Amino acid sequence: MLIPIERWENIVLSDAEKERYNRQIMLFGEEGQKKLKAAKVGVIGVGGLGTNIAQQLVFAGVGNILLIDKDPIERSNLNRQVLYTEEDIGKMKIDVAVEKLRKANPFIKITGKKVIVDDSNVDSIIKDLDLVIDGLDNWETRMIINFACVRNKKPFIHAGIEGLYGQLLVVIPRKTPCLYCIFGAKKNVQQKPFPVLGVTPAIMANLQVMEALKLITGFGKPALNKLIIYDGYYETFSEIDVKPNENCPVCRRL
Ligand SMILES: [Zn+2]
Repeated sequence: MLIPIERWENIVLSDAEKERYNRQIMLFGEEGQKKLKAAKVGVIGVGGLGTNIAQQLVFAGVGNILLIDKDPIERSNLNRQVLYTEEDIGKMKIDVAVEKLRKANPFIKITGKKVIVDDSNVDSIIKDLDLVIDGLDNWETRMIINFACVRNKKPFIHAGIEGLYGQLLVVIPRKTPCLYCIFGAKKNVQQKPFPVLGVTPAIMANLQVMEALKLITGFGKPALNKLIIYDGYYETFSEIDVKPNENCPVCRRL
């Protein structure tokens, strides 16, 4: 149970909120919507993945969203980072993202933090969150967050992309493998900048949010213990069954 009952049972949905979310309340009831409103979700990185993740969390009515990024908007971001336009070039991503998303849904709380996540601040950033979503483009920070999520027992939804390729892994500490269990001490090997078609992060981000909404509401079956690989070149999805690595230095330290 990701959102404890005492957190959501006293949440009130206004008539406007019930109308806004009517089509999804048909799926998981007002109880599910209240859980979404009570939820605290962090999105680390507001680029190709993160803009799409944040937008869908906002549309779904996740009540408390923390966005983290420290980069300015560049013209070369605009083939995939859906919240930004030509006139935003040079502004900080976090400022533009928060402003636009607040307009998109005034019923929720959106907070932005302009920081680079590292070992010194990661625990304080994630400590109040129910769930962390990976919007990053580098493995160094991703592994710091993976470790912190395992340490703090926070579910972590990873996606990574390049070109027309993407991968997805849902990490539930103590239950399913973490990123280190599967990839080990993976280092950045991607060229910088790496090639990517805008559709790829959009697809993977939407899969991440589908998993997030299921974990929060309890509706549906999350993709646990499987690594999902998307290959847009051939338009195929593959699933690889995975399990925790008993020798994983991240999980072992619990
Ligand atoms: Zn592990």
